[in-house]
Amino acid sequence: MNKTIDLHTHTTASDGTYTPSELITLAKEIGLSAVAITDHDTVDGVDEGLKEAEKLGIELVTGVELSAVPPSGGTLHILGYCFDHKNTELVATLARLVSLRNQRNQRIIEKFHDIDVDISLDEVEALAGGDVIGRPHFAKVLLKKGYVNTVQDAFNIYLGKGGKCYLDKERLTIEESVRLITGAGGIPVLAHPFTLGLSNSELKKYVSLLRDAGVRGIEVFYPEHNYDRTVFYKEMANELDLVVTGGTDFHGKNKENTRLGMGKVGNKPLKIPYECLENIKSALPV
Ligand code: AMP
Ligand code: ZN
Ligand code: FE
Ligand code: FE
Repeated sequence: MNKTIDLHTHTTASDGTYTPSELITLAKEIGLSAVAITDHDTVDGVDEGLKEAEKLGIELVTGVELSAVPPSGGTLHILGYCFDHKNTELVATLARLVSLRNQRNQRIIEKFHDIDVDISLDEVEALAGGDVIGRPHFAKVLLKKGYVNTVQDAFNIYLGKGGKCYLDKERLTIEESVRLITGAGGIPVLAHPFTLGLSNSELKKYVSLLRDAGVRGIEVFYPEHNYDRTVFYKEMANELDLVVTGGTDFHGKNKENTRLGMGKVGNKPLKIPYECLENIKSALPV
């Protein structure tokens, strides 16, 4: 049987609902060969993940997901893989991003108070558990307190772009993101390219700029990529000499409809081949 993997997952260290150990246990149960933990702005889950992975005999890849400044109105996320997660500059920069997030979170709370929605930072932090607090945690508090009926409503009404309490966060530039990951010995990869909101021809031009800036791969396999998108991204990766990767963006209960290592491409099951990890490894500096 062909080995399958998942190179895009979030744990309780950021905005997932599975602890790193629980995530690895689940990965083992469903028969994945390797997993990357790619929490937003933190590598706090990596050590626990590595320990559990070793215990269960599964491969754990060091990862992170950074939010970078997008070219237009879209969303630009960069995944980093196979780096030294103890790298001093990386650790310091991630700590700075988390501290900027905390300032943003305080301002989001103030926006809620301005419209008489009674939630506190303590409640959000208690629910989050980890150090990296993001909008999904606010959404869950709103849900728990009956201000909304679904997480999606929380984003549509309050937290999403155009929502009543929307506030953007500080982002690294693409150059800073690439430097941080490559500086720690890793490989930067463009996550879920469709969130850039570009047409195919615009995307191709932009991805070629990303490659010039040092991005080495494209997340081709992703649950929200239909068959046509998957084929287009794969061709683009081949043409631009970028490695093909894939993951589900599993967040546990914090992102409805994501399942670890699984999804659909058209009416076929999405399976992320082990080859994606080999592609990343082959791009690593020797
Ligand atoms: P933050 O990093 O705090 O800006 O939160 C970003 C996270 O919020 C993403 O990783 C998504 O999981 C989630 N998110 C963003 N937009 C939406 C949306 N419209 N609906 C549901 N979840 C969303
Ligand atoms: Zn997330
Ligand atoms: Fe993302
Ligand atoms: Fe993600």
